[in-house]
Amino acid sequence: MKAMDPAYVGFRGGEKEPSRPGNLKLVTAICSVCQRKRNVPEGVAVRAGEQYICASCAEKQASGAAS
Ligand SMILES: [Zn+2]
Repeated sequence: MKAMDPAYVGFRGGEKEPSRPGNLKLVTAICSVCQRKRNVPEGVAVRAGEQYICASCAEKQASGAAS
């Protein structure tokens, strides 16, 4: 079971995209800040809608807001 799970391979393979185990469906969302396409969990994309902000931009905004 573990060997057949693609998420398990990602977990061990050290891929740059963090993959979670389970039936998490990824969709393409475009970051409203950098306009880059990102693979995000469907729930996140639906909730954010057109205001989706990718993780790196969110970090920049968070650090910018703190200063
Ligand atoms: Zn971004």
